[in-house]
Amino acid sequence: MGSPRRYPYEEWGDWRAIGGNGLPGGLTWEEFVAYSSQARHLQNIAGTRPLQLLAWNGETWLLPRAYTEFLDRWEQREGELVDQARLCRCGAQGPYLGGWRRNTRTGYVTMCPPCAGESSQLYTGHLRGVLYDAHRRRGTRADDYLCRLCKQSPAAAWDHCHEHGYVRGPLCGSCNTREGTGLPYYFLRLEGAALHLLECRGCLEQRTLPRRFHTAVVRAHLEQTERHGRCPREPYAREVEHAHGVRRFELECSGWHASRWTKDVTAPETAALVQAFVDAALAAREGRPSPGPATAAG
Ligand SMILES: [Zn+2]
Ligand SMILES: [Zn+2]
Ligand SMILES: [Zn+2]
Ligand SMILES: [Zn+2]
Repeated sequence: MGSPRRYPYEEWGDWRAIGGNGLPGGLTWEEFVAYSSQARHLQNIAGTRPLQLLAWNGETWLLPRAYTEFLDRWEQREGELVDQARLCRCGAQGPYLGGWRRNTRTGYVTMCPPCAGESSQLYTGHLRGVLYDAHRRRGTRADDYLCRLCKQSPAAAWDHCHEHGYVRGPLCGSCNTREGTGLPYYFLRLEGAALHLLECRGCLEQRTLPRRFHTAVVRAHLEQTERHGRCPREPYAREVEHAHGVRRFELECSGWHASRWTKDVTAPETAALVQAFVDAALAAREGRPSPGPATAAG
């Protein structure tokens, strides 16, 4: 046995030369097997390692015909299975990489967007104002409905506000993850995301959003309104401190005259910005002109 030899960098030329036994670097068969075993996931043929079947004819390595035919059949079968998994029941063929794979009550299925829409009901808000823990909510399954955010996949769960406890609506797995654990700043930019959060009666009545989203609202506002000198560029803002309700943001402009400054936003200012954000989202839904951005904090 013994550990495989190490090949220093300057000997790489020798290492690449193929010896009379068909192996590089003057390796014996045993050394080659030991060495290539360290990279089994790379040094294989279609995921298999048919070492016992390989034969060197003095010029090239050969595999038995039966084995290569087996690999060909396997490749073909795999292709057929992938095509089948891309096929919607209506016959439409979906994209590679599972774009139409939907997580449903009975497992994963392939459904084109129109079929997904047909097989699930549209949520019309009948649980608006109902608490997540209420009997009435527990009597309804989320997966009978289409996700109310992306409107593409059957829903997987009843999304609800953790601060007020009200149901917001049925969400598919990916939208639910984006809302619950994604970056709030990016979630709020999704179409319909703000209105989805406002499906919570508590948030709607108080014209606020869950605390988790406040920093993102202030950040977006500062990026839209803060400028240094007469520079027209939108700076990048990030919260660097949050103590006693005061959020300190660092703003950074990456222009050639690069500049960096800070801005403090108090708790009442944050609340006012969130309220303005909510009002603008509600106004946009009703097609009213937006009340306009809140006057800059501070
Ligand atoms: Zn279809
Ligand atoms: Zn969704
Ligand atoms: Zn709420
Ligand atoms: Zn600038």
